[in-house]
Amino acid sequence: MEKIKGLRCRECGRASPAAPHHVCEFCFGPLEVDYHYENLQRIVTRARIEAGPPSIWRYKDLLPIDGEVTLGHHVGFTPIIRSRNLAEEWGLKELWIKNDSVCHPTWSFKDRVVSVAVIKAQEFGFDTVACASTGNLANSVAAHAAEARLRSYIFIPADLEQGKIVGTLIYNPTLVAVEGNYDEVNRLCSEVADKYHWAFVNISIRPFYSEGSKTYGFEIFEQLGWRAPKHIVIPCAGGSLLAKVWKALKEWKALGLIEDAGTRIHAAQALGCGPIVTAIKHKTDVLVPVRPNTIAKSLAIGNPADGYYAVKAVKESGGWAEHASDEEVLEGMELLARTEGIFTETAGGVTVAATKKLIEQGIIPRDESVVLSITGMGAKTQEALSGRLPETMTIRPSLAAFDQALAEWKTKH
Ligand SMILES: *Cc1c(COP(=O)(O)O)cnc(C)c1O
Ligand SMILES: [Zn+2]
Repeated sequence: MEKIKGLRCRECGRASPAAPHHVCEFCFGPLEVDYHYENLQRIVTRARIEAGPPSIWRYKDLLPIDGEVTLGHHVGFTPIIRSRNLAEEWGLKELWIKNDSVCHPTWSFKDRVVSVAVIKAQEFGFDTVACASTGNLANSVAAHAAEARLRSYIFIPADLEQGKIVGTLIYNPTLVAVEGNYDEVNRLCSEVADKYHWAFVNISIRPFYSEGSKTYGFEIFEQLGWRAPKHIVIPCAGGSLLAKVWKALKEWKALGLIEDAGTRIHAAQALGCGPIVTAIKHKTDVLVPVRPNTIAKSLAIGNPADGYYAVKAVKESGGWAEHASDEEVLEGMELLARTEGIFTETAGGVTVAATKKLIEQGIIPRDESVVLSITGMGAKTQEALSGRLPETMTIRPSLAAFDQALAEWKTKH
């Protein structure tokens, strides 16, 4: 079955072949993968998906890969958890946590996009992959390049968290720390991509890469029993995950896999870098780039590549948006850990904090189903919590020492 039609410009609609390009030759609009939906209509069924492997590859028919899955065999199919404690704390009837902090192999949703992109880079015949990253992408590209035995060049802002740097270097890539913010790293990478024949996963082969994000949505719908929730709150950096969950919803409705549930998609960003949320709140689709200043470094993109499309998706769905201050981000991380036993990174704290505000404002009614998008792992952003954690009870190795320390502890707590 032929499934990939080619690329299509999101602005002028002109078609072009499936090649490592990302902008339209005619209008410079962004390109998107287009499928032969009439063929997919005939073969994609719930039963066929359910018979697939417990990974994103159960949705391979809807991903832009021609041949076999050559790497990243265990990516995705992360748990969706029915929240009891946080739901009770917020007075919600039905709250779910889609937990990509345990996505294999590098503990963030970026494994979804990178595994697709690296297989596609192999299909195109590249021997080198590269990326401009806010951290999680760096980890994932380095890991998947190692598995694929490809060279990798990873560009990051020099001030990233130690966990993200170590979690990249362990795979032995060439790590380039750029003294600047993400937007400056990204601009440099566009020039590098023009000069060197490397597959920049989130630049030169971005149309293929971003399709991997759809699987986050597919899993939510399948795991909820082939149904879409009323609300999904999604953290935004470049805006691709949000825009693609919306595309996932539209695809599955068109293929008859789920019913229309009137799902509203809400955007979450940090106050110190929230151009997408600001545009939504101001009811405009004109994004004003900002200079990032937030502890949520994985979301710190001041000029988001898919920002316009994220705003459009939120608007089309009837959703809304909220910012979270750094203090609220930390409280969000602590709240999720205290209530659900899930340690998420700063980006997850942004989602928790924004969701809380949307509930308090009545934008998310307490009797409607809500999915919280937890996209990354807390152990990678430990420095954000320094000075906030409870003290440790330190003792000599004897029962008497413990008895005494326990008595003192109890008087204090
Ligand atoms: C990259 C990232 C996002 C947002 O991704 P975009 O598709 O660029 O909007 C969300 N959460 C985490 C943890 C990320 O690393
Ligand atoms: Zn065009």
